[in-house]
Amino acid sequence: MKVIDHINAAKDTLISFEVLPPLKGKGIEALYRHLDPLMEFKPSFINVTYHRSEHVFKKNADGTFQKVVVRKRPGTESICAAIMNRYNVDTVPHLICGGFGINETEDALINLHYLGIDNVLVLRGDAAKNESTFEPEPGGHKYAVDLLRQVMNLNSGIYLEEELRDTHKTKFCIGVAGYPEKHFEAPNMDTDLQYLKNKVDAGADYIITQMFFDNACFHSFVKSCRAIGITVPIIPGLKPITTKKQLTILPKTFYIDLPNDLSAEILKCKSDEEVAQVGTEWLLEQSKDLKRAGVPVLHYYTLGKPDVVVNVVKNL
Ligand SMILES: Cc1cc2nc3c(=O)[nH]c(=O)nc-3n(C[C@H](O)[C@H](O)[C@H](O)COP(=O)(O)OP(=O)(O)OC[C@H]3O[C@@H](n4cnc5c(N)ncnc54)[C@H](O)[C@@H]3O)c2cc1C
Repeated sequence: MKVIDHINAAKDTLISFEVLPPLKGKGIEALYRHLDPLMEFKPSFINVTYHRSEHVFKKNADGTFQKVVVRKRPGTESICAAIMNRYNVDTVPHLICGGFGINETEDALINLHYLGIDNVLVLRGDAAKNESTFEPEPGGHKYAVDLLRQVMNLNSGIYLEEELRDTHKTKFCIGVAGYPEKHFEAPNMDTDLQYLKNKVDAGADYIITQMFFDNACFHSFVKSCRAIGITVPIIPGLKPITTKKQLTILPKTFYIDLPNDLSAEILKCKSDEEVAQVGTEWLLEQSKDLKRAGVPVLHYYTLGKPDVVVNVVKNL
């Protein structure tokens, strides 16, 4: 079932989770152990992130270096199918522009369609580790909106080979990313919102936001979206804080702010167990407030911390 159909049919706020594919060589069982306790909350859908390959330098025996391509977390599409089969839940693979040519993208979409997966979250992806700015593949997509248009074309039966006749139409429900605190490359919030509106005007069914820790940011983001005519559902993305290190890592990696009250409480903690307790209480309060505000879905980035998310969701 499509995410948008879940939202339209819901009488209350829904729950969804986001997971990462396992590290290459680790097998899928740990992911199942991660998901098992979360499934009792009957999530409407599970997102699986996408991780592009990276160039790394490996030292040879003679002391020289060799540039090799590694993909640390492959398998997004097949993990979606495996989760769907095991738990009978809808899955949302993330699909990115980075590292993909348009033909590979079309093949990936056809594979997903054959697997019975009707949802995708379309994203640009970040710059490759060895690049300072995002560079599309030759002939690949530069912005998420370009990838979105390719999915929309396939939904209309328009494949890259124009001579194909009587083509089958896919039926992907498409989500896109939004940034309550602005995407870090955008010159200002208004410009970023305008590009977000372009994605919605091009056919996006809903928006999932970057994580945020101050609900006021989310509420103001929703208000700004509505003011410029973005009417699709906006799903808040929520992440638990569990370690002191995250106080510096999260702002640096995701270009977000942590509110003073939260950082002050975390700084007082003497261990990461205490941080996890503060993080759980904060996330619970955030979630309760968003639920009261009538958000369509609470979307949790579970990333290796299912127990914190379990403690939050069971107390909602
Ligand atoms: C919910 C969520 C899930 C994510 N999952 C993943 C994942 O699984 N894998 C992964 O690699 N990354 C993931 N990301 C990170 C994401 O790929 C990065 O934040 C990336 O830098 C931007 O992606 P986007 O889809 O928002 O890009 P876009 O919408 O393309 O925007 C990128 C930047 O370009 C600007 N822009 C957009 N259109 C134009 C235009 N026409 N001209 C000029 N500027 C323009 C925007 O304002 C923005 O600054 C996720 C992010 C979120 C919020």
